[in-house]
Formats: sequence, structure tokens, C-alpha cells
Amino acid sequence: MTQTATGKLAPPASHAEPAHDLAAENRALRARMAYLLEQAERNHSIMTRHQAFDLDIVGASNFPELVGTIFRVLPVISELDNVTLTLIDEDADIRTVMAKLDVVFADYPDLLFVETADELGLDLGRRNAYSPTPKPLLGMYDKQRHAVSFPNAPAGLQSVALVPLLRNKRIIGSLNLGSCDPTRFTPSLGTDFIEHMASIIAICLENVISNEMLKYIGLTDSLTGVYNRRYIDRRLLEEIARARRQQYPISFMYLDIDHFKRVNDTVGHGGGDEVLREVASRIKNELRTSDALARFGGEEFVALLINANLESAAFVAERIRASVAGSLITLSPSLQLSVTVSIGVATLDLAAEGEGADIARELVARADGLLYHAKESGRNRVVSVRAA
Ligand code: GH3
Ligand code: MG
Ligand code: MG
Repeated sequence: MTQTATGKLAPPASHAEPAHDLAAENRALRARMAYLLEQAERNHSIMTRHQAFDLDIVGASNFPELVGTIFRVLPVISELDNVTLTLIDEDADIRTVMAKLDVVFADYPDLLFVETADELGLDLGRRNAYSPTPKPLLGMYDKQRHAVSFPNAPAGLQSVALVPLLRNKRIIGSLNLGSCDPTRFTPSLGTDFIEHMASIIAICLENVISNEMLKYIGLTDSLTGVYNRRYIDRRLLEEIARARRQQYPISFMYLDIDHFKRVNDTVGHGGGDEVLREVASRIKNELRTSDALARFGGEEFVALLINANLESAAFVAERIRASVAGSLITLSPSLQLSVTVSIGVATLDLAAEGEGADIARELVARADGLLYHAKESGRNRVVSVRAA
């Protein structure tokens, strides 16, 4: 029997007709030719669709775009009834970074994560000197055995292929293909085609994941995990433009730890770093997820509050101040210290005219000026209105 690119089995070659019936033999050969031609055309069209798919995924510029394309396009072009993707994410780094970059995992129910390669359901024991990398595992679908790889299996799933995703001989996950056709994936089927497909998908995945990681690193402050100045500068321009267009309030907070030099002098630079992390976390706890918190540098933080007028932003600022001052920061069981912050709060003037960049600069300067007043008037306080 002939195996085709799609994994379908071609029927056996027709038995030769008696030699004297040339006309019948001719007809049979013609029918066979027509069949093979049809198969070749079908394979050609599948190849063409796959080439377009390859270009699509190679061109995907971020993680959602890549996995979205895989889940949307692959089942159609490969005529599959279920496609899932399992990624090894040992310390949940991928999930953490993607979540920070606003990837909504609920949008991808067939994107799965495991801690180790052993959980992929592949036959890793089959690796040996002749076949050092794991091979795809093809066979009948078994509800229990394949529960991890096909958590949302459609009714009637019959045969499956678990294809390892490899990068430099390292397994990064598996591409799991399911079909309602029991003959689609059988252990005897050649796997060159699906291995090739998986290798392209693996390269693309590794690429976008490392790009997203870089993006994340470029936007966050490594000490505290909150955003950095580069991020907030850009975000501020976007949010100001949107707020001016749609006329809703946004406010800006400038926070500075009081007498931080003394903190460093008392507990050392390492202890000071620990204090910065704890203060960042207390500020963050008082903000909404739609707000953005950044470390602007040194012991200064800024927060952008979306849909908050001056009054409600000042209220949040007061909560932050109280939370930082309210309990000692523990550096070790024997080392606790009291830390306070001063905060300046300003709100965007929606009536102001001018360039977004100028408006942003003015907003930050106004909050900074109010912070200065908070320092002047005794620290550990919030100032949102310029004293007369
Ligand atoms: P004020 O109440 O007026 O704000 O006084 P301050 O001592 O907090 O202000 P100042 O700006 O003079 O000092 C800030 C200190 O923060 C000086 C610097 O050594 C320290 N600092 C800046 N960045 C870091 C950092 O990343 N880690 C630690 N531990 N200290 C830092
Ligand atoms: Mg300062
Ligand atoms: Mg300070």
C-alpha cells in the first residue's frame, strides 16, 4: 500500500486483468492513473496550504499570534479534528511572562503546560543510539491515556499523533494531532511529514517565546519586577491619547521613599534593595490591574491610574501611604524597620490643548512638584492640591 503525505492509505493496486482483455486492462490502468493523479493533486494542494501555513507562523510576531494561527489554521489545512499544543514550562516562566504581557490563556483552551518532558505522554524510553531523539507516537486514541494531551477531545476522536517539539535535540513540548478517522494515525505510518511540520513549529515557538521574554525584560525593573521607566514613558503617551479622545480621567502619582539614604546606611545596600521590593509590592496591592506601576529610578516609583479623577487617585494614594507606614518591614527576624513614603498626585487636564508628549511632561512635572510639597511639609503624606 502507498502512504501519502496526509497519512491516508491508498487502496491496493488493482489486480492485473487477463492478458487477452487489453481493453479492460487499459480501462483499469486509466482508472488507476486517474486515482493517482487525484491523490497527487490533493497532496499538492495540501503541500501548498502547508507552505502558506509555514509562512504564516514564521511571520507571527508574538506569542498569541503564533498559537492563535496554529489552532485556527492547522486543523483546517490538515483536516484534523483536534490540535493541541503542550509546552514544558518547568518554573512557569513562560506563563508568568505571557501573563504579564497580557496574554489571556483562557482564549487558548488547547494550549497546555507541563512541568517535565515525562508528562508529555511520549515514549521517551524509545530513544537509543540509532534514534537519539524521540519519535512521534501514533496510534488509537485512548481517553484515559491521552487525557492530558487532549483535555477537550471531541466526541468520536479515533487516532492521534503525539509529535515531540525539538530544539537542538531538547524537547520543548509536543504537538498533538487528533483525528476521527481511525486509519489516519497508525503506528506504521511514515512520520517525515509531521516531524517536518513540528520542527518548523518548534523553531517558531522558541523564537516568539524568547522575543517575548526579551520584550518583558526590556519593560520591567529587574529588582522589583514592576515596570521600568521606558515602559511607563510609552504607556503614558498611549493612555493620555486615549483619555483625551474618549474624555475619561486618568491620574498620575509620583512616590518617593522618605529618608531612604538612612535606610541604606542602617541596613546596607542589600537590605535597601529588599525594602524597595517590599514597598513596590505594597504599592501594587493597592492598585487595580488596569493601573500601571513603574520604578522610575532609585527609590522613586510612579503609578498611572486609569479612569481615576484627582479625588479617587488621592484616596488610593492615601491607602498606599497608610499601607507602607502601617507595619514594619521585616528584613530578618531580628531586623525590622519603619519606612514611609511621600506622594504627589496630579490628574490629566482633559481641556488642555497641545502635543501628547508636552501634556505628559507637564503631568509628570506637576506630580513631582506636589511630591516636593509633601516632602517639605513633613514627609509620610499625600499632596494632591497645590497649597495657596
Ligand atoms: P528624601 O526623604 O528627601 O527622599 O530623602 P532620601 O534619602 O530618600 O533621598 P535621596 O534622593 O537623597 O536618596 C536616595 C537614596 O536611594 C540614595 C541612593 O543611594 C539610594 N538608592 C538609589 N537606588 C538604589 C537601589 O537600587 N538600591 C538601594 N539599596 N538604594 C538605592
Ligand atoms: Mg528620591
Ligand atoms: Mg527619597
